[in-house]
Amino acid sequence: MTTIKQQDLIESVSDALQYISYYHPIDYIQALTKAWEREKSAAAKDAMAQILVNSRMCAEGHRPICQDTGMVVAFVEVGMEVTWDAEMGLEEMINEGVRRAYSAPENVLRASVVSDPAGARVNTRDNTPAVIHTRLVPGDHVEIKLAAKGGGSENKSRFTVLNPSGSLVDWVLETMPTLGAGWCPPGMLGIGIGGSAEKAMLLAKESLMEPIDIHELQARGPNSRTEELRLELFEKVNALGIGAQGLGGVTTVLDVKINDYPTHAASLPVALIPNCAATRHIEFTLNGDGPAELQPPKAEDWPEVTWEASADAHRVNLDKVTREEIAGFKPGDRVLLSGKLLTGRDAAHKRIQELLEKGEPLPDGVDFNNRFIYYVGPVDPVDDEVVGPAGPTTATRMDKFTDMMLGETGLIGMVGKAERGPAARESIKQHGAIYLMAVGGAAYLVAKAIRSSRIVAFEELGMEAIREFEVVDMPVTVAVDSRGDSVHESGPAEWRVKIAEIGKI
Ligand code: SF4
Repeated sequence: MTTIKQQDLIESVSDALQYISYYHPIDYIQALTKAWEREKSAAAKDAMAQILVNSRMCAEGHRPICQDTGMVVAFVEVGMEVTWDAEMGLEEMINEGVRRAYSAPENVLRASVVSDPAGARVNTRDNTPAVIHTRLVPGDHVEIKLAAKGGGSENKSRFTVLNPSGSLVDWVLETMPTLGAGWCPPGMLGIGIGGSAEKAMLLAKESLMEPIDIHELQARGPNSRTEELRLELFEKVNALGIGAQGLGGVTTVLDVKINDYPTHAASLPVALIPNCAATRHIEFTLNGDGPAELQPPKAEDWPEVTWEASADAHRVNLDKVTREEIAGFKPGDRVLLSGKLLTGRDAAHKRIQELLEKGEPLPDGVDFNNRFIYYVGPVDPVDDEVVGPAGPTTATRMDKFTDMMLGETGLIGMVGKAERGPAARESIKQHGAIYLMAVGGAAYLVAKAIRSSRIVAFEELGMEAIREFEVVDMPVTVAVDSRGDSVHESGPAEWRVKIAEIGKI
């Protein structure tokens, strides 16, 4: 009979969440390194290099891979012979582990979870509660799989129920381009087939906890229908040319995982959940002999990849930039930003909209005239940092505010990640503005360009407050130019054709 102590479970969960906040799984690093070596698109290769360099910096500095440190998802298998030395319930213990991990002073993680999701959306401040799935199984131990899932990739989860004769491959290939780049590829696709609606989603999510091993499957060949589907989808999804960060390129996914389950004769439920460049998951077993021991990876697990700003990058002084200067930039051009950069994301934009609608002035210090805004919710700093990891959030969510910001505040530039919609692009064109993208999943690297940070408005919004950063050579790419042309359209279109010409990649 195995007895699991409350303290051991709490400590294990907390340690594991800290571990995955700064250590990528090694299978992801190895697969991304191979993809980086193979990549033929210069823009995608540059983005992958940033992700790899960021990954090594985070492992060395024990700081988060991404500013979105994720919502915790736990799959727990409890052996039926296990007894507990605990006062808390299982979910309470896991949530206590989450609470400790996210408020650890040496590596504070960003609390992203809000309660009352359809109402006030109040941050719970400690990233609890986790989403917990528990199964009772034969045995005398407890197995826990943990993930910290970023919002950008979770938002791109999709579900359908096909006719039994329908084509799952066609549905996935039609769906992928509609996801845009907000899920920060390259990553993995988790697919759940069968069961009921909620079972298919769970199958997809749990499949993402498995290691990347598509290359082993390619070498040995498929033994089942799901393995055939994995190979077919891996090749065909990559042939779409979406590429790293949606810039166009030969690698969009590093693996396709599939779990299946029997289903009703009338149904073919299919769930698709992508995992992003900040792939974070781990599993451990508790046998009653203390907390889980997690071995750190070795320095040599990371490739010798370096990243340098492109020599032909435009250098922009944010304190003097004009519409005339940015009018000459084209989609895909590299840019290095220096000077003062205001920040803001969903909640700050909503506040600005409310003020403008009431005819009230913006808060002191918030002047967007001829300025750029960075869509970001950074991690709090530790030690001598001026700011914690501070990568871009998905710009598409700010589309509905774009015309207001460009038309009424004097803003001329935006920095975020992923594509903009047609209305936002039209507004950018009309106002002669520009949209630049930073690499999602390279948050620590990006933060190194930030030399000072101060909150200028809406402090009560926490990570969503408006800050003013002073940046030096912050690396970005022109995603939508002042004519409204988008690299997220031209890049994948170009690489889809090139991949078809190159043949099998
Ligand atoms: S890599 Fe992108 S999708 Fe993933 S957590 Fe970071 S910002 Fe979110």
